[in-house]
Amino acid sequence: MYKYVNDINELAHNIIKLHYNSCNIAVDATLGNGYDTDFLASFFNKVFSFDIQKSSTDNYLSKSRDNVVVINDSHVNLELYIKEKIDVIVYNLGYLPGSSKEVTTKCNSTLTSIKIALKLLVPGGMLLAVMYPGHREGKKESEAILEFAGNLSKKEFGVMLHTFINREKAPQLVIIEKSLKL
Ligand code: SAH
Repeated sequence: MYKYVNDINELAHNIIKLHYNSCNIAVDATLGNGYDTDFLASFFNKVFSFDIQKSSTDNYLSKSRDNVVVINDSHVNLELYIKEKIDVIVYNLGYLPGSSKEVTTKCNSTLTSIKIALKLLVPGGMLLAVMYPGHREGKKESEAILEFAGNLSKKEFGVMLHTFINREKAPQLVIIEKSLKL
């Protein structure tokens, strides 16, 4: 229906494609069905993908892509598994459509993970988070992330928000880019 004002995850992918073709390390903090990981695996040398749901990690493992490291653990434990610097990290927050709504990302652990991820980013690296404020936990999470991201130093991080302002319960894409001069 629209070329640009369309699926917000696709928008995130297009932003990554535009700026990070042939890069080294990417992280998918919320593997889910694996769409982001599939995309990242085609552009990055190595992808680390986290999910706390074993069904999700087992599904992806059966694809056995040799540049994807699948991790059945929370993204708060990022540093236990990743010793390299990260070029791009994506979060697709909330719950997996079609799966239990109880297994949703949670405000505190998401924020903790984001703070760690920002430390691990290379200068010029980017964090992209798709947030779903249309449900209760998602609203809390989105507000906390926007509050945190909105207070980051503008010398160290460029922060931008994309959303639909004429749609109910619209998802939001927040982008945090680390300055090249750090
Ligand atoms: N709401 C999105 C899909 C989100 S999928 C959409 O509509 O497309 C979110 C995934 O994150 C789920 O598979 C869930 O199991 C996973 N998840 C939840 N908490 C997590 C955590 N702390 N660490 C890693 N993955 C987590």
